[in-house]
Amino acid sequence: MILTESKPVEEIVEKLGKEKNIFIMGCGGCPEGAETGGKKVLNEMKKTLEQKGFSVTGIIEIDFICQKALIRSRLKPRTSEIEAADSVLVFSCGLGVQAASEVLDKVCHPALNTMTFGGITGMWHGKERCDTCGSCILDLTGGICPYTNCPKMLENGACAGQSDDKCETDPDRDCGWVLIYKNLKRIGKLDLLEQFIEPRDYRKALPTEKLRNSRLWAYDEEAADE
Ligand code: SF4
Ligand code: SF4
Repeated sequence: MILTESKPVEEIVEKLGKEKNIFIMGCGGCPEGAETGGKKVLNEMKKTLEQKGFSVTGIIEIDFICQKALIRSRLKPRTSEIEAADSVLVFSCGLGVQAASEVLDKVCHPALNTMTFGGITGMWHGKERCDTCGSCILDLTGGICPYTNCPKMLENGACAGQSDDKCETDPDRDCGWVLIYKNLKRIGKLDLLEQFIEPRDYRKALPTEKLRNSRLWAYDEEAADE
């Protein structure tokens, strides 16, 4: 199970900014188990946003948001609700936010931070990759993770070494920052490139004790003591 933590409501509200019409999407997979998602959490967020003056155009839970085919089929009947939204708030791990960002023409704001893959990965093996940084920034990068798409993990733009849109470290690999530029252009959000992204906080590399307090982690610790 991929373990996630909820971003503080204040941070989410600040990120949404002037976007007042929001569509809420949640993953019915891992976040349900981690209690960072599920229908109750989504409905609570709807209430909170409405109290703060936002309008929620729709709300949906999809079994596995990391699978783009599922997102497409489940959202087909909800097109008008998505179109009415300025942006989408996604309750899932980084893989789900990446998949949603590819399918939709809106900024997808992560509502959760991905902390650890927790020993079992039940995720769909698509091309999306997350490095469990614990502070998801995909809404600023067009849904492309700079930590897994740029070998130098650059957070604020390309290194200028790219050639024909390929990475200087590997001519067979797309430059992550070119992908970010193209995706932001596709959704009409190139202005987001002007926002400074804070350096990654590596103190979050080790999941918190609370997250490590699962049966599997405990089993691992016991095995090490034998
Ligand atoms: S920014 Fe990248 S590494 Fe961090 S949680 Fe999001 S997808 Fe994962
Ligand atoms: S060419 Fe692009 S992907 Fe490669 S290291 Fe430079 S910025 Fe990163």
